[in-house]
Amino acid sequence: MNTAWSVEFSRLLATVISLVLFGLVSGYWTLSVIIHSSIYIGWNVVQLRSFERWIRDGAPSDSAPNASGIWELIVQHIHRTQKANKDRKAHLANVAEHYQAVMSALPDATIVLNRRLELEWANKTSEKLFGLDSEKDTGHKLGNVVRDTSMQEWLDSREEKDEIEIISTVDAQKTLVLTKTQYGRDKTLLTARDISQRIALQKLRKAFIANASHELRTPLTVIAGYLEMLTDDDQLPNSLKKIVSSAHLQSIRMDQILDDLLVLSKLEEKGYSENSGEVVDVPKLLKRLVSDFQKTHAKTDHLLELSIDESLFVKVIETEFYSLCQNLLSNAVKYSPKNSVIRICWAKREDGKACLRVIDSGEGIAPEHLSRLTERFYRANVNRTQKVSGTGLGLSIVKHILENYGGHLDIQSELSIGSTFTACFPSFRVKSDNDQLLIGDSQQ
Ligand code: ADP
Repeated sequence: MNTAWSVEFSRLLATVISLVLFGLVSGYWTLSVIIHSSIYIGWNVVQLRSFERWIRDGAPSDSAPNASGIWELIVQHIHRTQKANKDRKAHLANVAEHYQAVMSALPDATIVLNRRLELEWANKTSEKLFGLDSEKDTGHKLGNVVRDTSMQEWLDSREEKDEIEIISTVDAQKTLVLTKTQYGRDKTLLTARDISQRIALQKLRKAFIANASHELRTPLTVIAGYLEMLTDDDQLPNSLKKIVSSAHLQSIRMDQILDDLLVLSKLEEKGYSENSGEVVDVPKLLKRLVSDFQKTHAKTDHLLELSIDESLFVKVIETEFYSLCQNLLSNAVKYSPKNSVIRICWAKREDGKACLRVIDSGEGIAPEHLSRLTERFYRANVNRTQKVSGTGLGLSIVKHILENYGGHLDIQSELSIGSTFTACFPSFRVKSDNDQLLIGDSQQ
């Protein structure tokens, strides 16, 4: 038995012995019981009162009641629980401090917003990238502190788009990419990364490719011209004819690559604007394209089938649209056997998008290549495609054209069965033939 309980029992025993002795000596047993139990209970009530006062004052350890027996034991238990709570609190504060230090040191701006998009917490980098003062601005709407309309619209909208790019409101030289994540109860975690360096590098790369392609153009034209002259020269020894003709073909291919690279760098320069372009009579354009193809690719003997919505037009730049269709159609011709059917469908989808589908029953593409086909110079099935002339840039051009108009390219293919390339334009680009008439009238 622990000492506190022994003390308590000794105290009780002493009271009982005293009660018996008093009863024996005086003969007043009832009086003895009343006196002794009153003393015992009264003493405990006094202890209880001082104990209750101590707990009411928050149980400070320096003014614990001077108790013994069972009361001393209870005081000890309270002290122990208090100490454990204090240690746990200190540990949690430590953990919270550690996480705050980690978040503050993050190279990305990290901001916590509440349901009303008011600032709750921001790290040091946010102060640098957004000019926030985390103490002064806490509780204010982020939109009132960082004045950027596109960011505000993006934050307000609950749509899926979880990333946008903005120009820093503090330093116009900086481009930031923002991401938002919802967590807990209506909280938003906003992060911003400075991507100015990446953009500068991209610009440098684009400028280099554009300049190099431009500069290579003239010498290549001269070389190709001489090679062409040599291939036509009857005096050229037979042993050299094959070499010169192969060099001529390669010079033509290099010329195509330079052409495509220049087209790509021009496409990359263009921004995306809802109003760019003119209303293009797509049905007419597709018929012209097919007739051009039948003239130039007569030897391939492909059967081209057209299925066209005659009233469906889009607002785009005609030459770019033509180049897109031409790339898809020439790929279908290149990668499918003679006498096979190629279907070209132009129709409006249920979601309002206008889509061009080019369907062939050619060699198809293995699934592992599909996601990479629109990368520059990527050619699937290298062994087979090497026999077919191409630059590996056609689909990259198609993708860029579509992206500039807010559209997308979908590729479905199965080896030995065929491929379907679907180029879709967003509904706001779709026009009816009436729109075209109106534009035509106003131009007259
Ligand atoms: P290329 O000049 O090589 O045709 P593209 O960018 O147009 O370059 O196409 C990239 C690659 O995608 C091609 O090399 C080819 O392997 C594959 N490809 C494109 N269209 C088709 C198609 N209709 N059928 C099979 N493979 C295709």
